Amino acid sequence: MREQYLQQFLEETGSYNGLVGNFFPAALWSPLPHFVQTWLRIYIVSLVTYFLLCSLWCFYFYHWKKDIYLLKVGPIAYTIHVIVHITLAEFWLYWTHRAFHDVKPLYKHFHFVHHRYNNKTSLSPFAGAASHPVEAVLDALPYTIFLFFVPMHFKTELALLSLNGIWTFHSHGCLETKMWPILTADYHTVHHIMHRYNYGNYTFMMDWLFGTLRHPNSLIEEAKSE
Ligand SMILES: [Zn+2]
Ligand SMILES: [Zn+2]
Repeated sequence: MREQYLQQFLEETGSYNGLVGNFFPAALWSPLPHFVQTWLRIYIVSLVTYFLLCSLWCFYFYHWKKDIYLLKVGPIAYTIHVIVHITLAEFWLYWTHRAFHDVKPLYKHFHFVHHRYNNKTSLSPFAGAASHPVEAVLDALPYTIFLFFVPMHFKTELALLSLNGIWTFHSHGCLETKMWPILTADYHTVHHIMHRYNYGNYTFMMDWLFGTLRHPNSLIEEAKSE
């Protein structure tokens, strides 16, 4: 039964990989091991989806609506816009992430894909890229949807989108890098181990506000006292 399932799994993922493999010369693509082809397929499709969606949004906001979004704002207004925009995104990311845990069907059908990597031996920056497409779109959405309410400079918007990608890789790296009030990798490791804490993205402000903050050191102290 297990063998049969494995065979079915390989065939299905092999056919998906082939769709991306068609864009490479066969002599380059075919010798690659199955797991490398799978990783490349997911990586390339995610990048294309991400940049396609973001480019469409940018086209809409900065080309069609440029009369609104190329305002000449001073440094104070600019700083306020960036802070409000990031705070709104943090609020969105906190509550969508929390809903993915609290609403069981959402966890089972979408977020579980990401939580397959739940301990220090399976967590790595690659785990950051492992998420269901629905979740990936929901995670990218605040950076674009809040442009309706808070204008942002084009380059700042691009920087935020890129930083979010880098941040996702960092936060799954199991590093010990505590830096108040940043929700660094060790806080996210706690999230992967315990599920009920540290749902935030860049900072732990939302976790602190809504009572789900757990300091990484508390796990070590707990382990010592047992
Ligand atoms: Zn989670
Ligand atoms: Zn994670």
